[in-house]
Amino acid sequence: MKKKQVHNFNPGPSALPLCVLEEIQESFLDYQYSGMSIVEISHRSRWFEGVLNDAVDRLKRLLKLDERFHVLFLQGGASLQFCMVPMNFLKAGDTADYVNTGLWSAKAIKEAQLQGKSIHIVASSEDRDFSYIPQKIPYNEGSTYLHFTSNNTIRGTQFREFPESAHIPLVADMSSDIMSRPFDVSPFGFLYGGIQKNLGAAGACLAIIRKDFLERVPETLPTMLSYRTHASKNSLFNTPACFSIYTAQLVLKWLEETIGGLEQMASINQKKAQMLYGVLDESGFYNPTAEPDSRSLMNITFRLSIQNLEAKFIQEAEMSGFYGLKGHRSVGGCRVSIYNAVTISSVAALVDFMKTFERKYG
Ligand SMILES: *Cc1c(COP(=O)(O)O)cnc(C)c1O
Repeated sequence: MKKKQVHNFNPGPSALPLCVLEEIQESFLDYQYSGMSIVEISHRSRWFEGVLNDAVDRLKRLLKLDERFHVLFLQGGASLQFCMVPMNFLKAGDTADYVNTGLWSAKAIKEAQLQGKSIHIVASSEDRDFSYIPQKIPYNEGSTYLHFTSNNTIRGTQFREFPESAHIPLVADMSSDIMSRPFDVSPFGFLYGGIQKNLGAAGACLAIIRKDFLERVPETLPTMLSYRTHASKNSLFNTPACFSIYTAQLVLKWLEETIGGLEQMASINQKKAQMLYGVLDESGFYNPTAEPDSRSLMNITFRLSIQNLEAKFIQEAEMSGFYGLKGHRSVGGCRVSIYNAVTISSVAALVDFMKTFERKYG
């Protein structure tokens, strides 16, 4: 097959498993003998309903969700959820707690504040430039939910353990680590994440909502902005992001059948991260930016001790076939995103490149 395969470390949209891309290519012109492409058929056809229901079933199995949880595929990205979460779950007089661990958390906070909702920022890592995850979050008794960002894509920090919040339900933006490891969904009222990092092609946003949270949603919201609408219609109130959901179905099938589930995925992800942090820790040339106990297994962020070599590092990496290593424009530096689909062999090749680069310029 004619496909230019590079080592893809893009932060999102990002690498997909090669076998998934091949399956899309093979079935693209004729989806399951329908004589039509998956992008040409009705979202209400048996073909697409099969895709959607299979994606939902696989998600439920992988995350061990019980019947209290609805799985939705929405549009507007994680960014629209920043606004929909407070709109749907906070009535007059309700308050919510937010943890600020970087740009994405701050955007979620801003959208709640814009609506005049009563929220408290109960913990923040701004004091040390968002290089860590605050421990022991001092949540407020009586809050409707505690919102946090499970993995900070830009800063390279990640919650190892989710906040302890007793009976206050958790709400999380899991855009950049959903389905990268197993976790207990039961403390969550709601969680969400864009498809484009760990799950498939951009377009859809995965959301998981617990029934008691669905009951909080006011009847008066605009129809499209109400989680009730999408839950009652199984994500088919209007035309969903069909192609994106299709790619997610194939990635979930790969995760379940080829990888073998979330435990196996997590151990592969741990191995990849250890290989990279190993190089960073051994060297005085590369300096990791996240504090050790807060390091992300998905986005490894670092600076070069000679900062004016960073552009050269990124450029030589590209010439050697390593893509996507530039840090987010808001922070600079370098970032290696190693989502589920990035292989151990790609990481091993990058490790070799980094060691060679250090010998050459360090
Ligand atoms: C990428 C990302 C987003 C933005 O997602 P969109 O789908 O583009 O709205 C939000 N939160 C986190 C943690 C992200 O990594």
